[in-house]
Amino acid sequence: MRLILLGPPGAGKGTQAARLTEKFKIPQLSTGDMLRAAVKAGTPIGLQAKAVMDAGGLVSDEIVCGIISDRIEQADAKNGFILDGFPRTVAQAKALDELLAKKSMGLDAIVELKVDENALLARIEKRAAETLAAGGTVRADDNPEAFKVRLVSYREQTAPVSAYYASKGVLKTVDGMAPIDEVTKALDSVLG
Ligand code: AMP
Repeated sequence: MRLILLGPPGAGKGTQAARLTEKFKIPQLSTGDMLRAAVKAGTPIGLQAKAVMDAGGLVSDEIVCGIISDRIEQADAKNGFILDGFPRTVAQAKALDELLAKKSMGLDAIVELKVDENALLARIEKRAAETLAAGGTVRADDNPEAFKVRLVSYREQTAPVSAYYASKGVLKTVDGMAPIDEVTKALDSVLG
């Protein structure tokens, strides 16, 4: 199962992807997680990406496409993967089409979690509070200022990705405002 999960920041992509990894025994490939790991490890990519990420902007297509191209070749992705947070621009979606074609791989499903944007800031604030309560470190971009930038970049650059797949007739949508378990059930049903 090769799957793309689309939706704005705070839509619940990470939560649902974690459940799907269990179900299908395939890894969740989150470019955000991989970039945060690179920042933490102080790699050249991490050093380049840090300021952009902290401000809520988008890392270059070249960097993220390179990361994904390498990652999907790894042994644990042999039976499939869930892309979470990628592609985030139409250019990335087209680059993904090309790199999958080169590797003779296809996609099984592209699903968008539809959410009411007004609810998202509250969700992000909740995620930060829960992380703090659990003794964790809150993401540098989980604050209202960076979140607004992330939402604008979603509207301007990532919403067209859904339109790109919809125009090809391959986009499925699920109501991301429903309780978490309901969203999981809806995903199960569209994934068959
Ligand atoms: P996320 O965890 O998906 O919310 O991503 C956190 C941050 O990582 C984003 O705000 C971007 O700065 C960066 N990022 C993650 N995925 C991508 C991508 N596909 N393209 C560009 N930047 C990305």
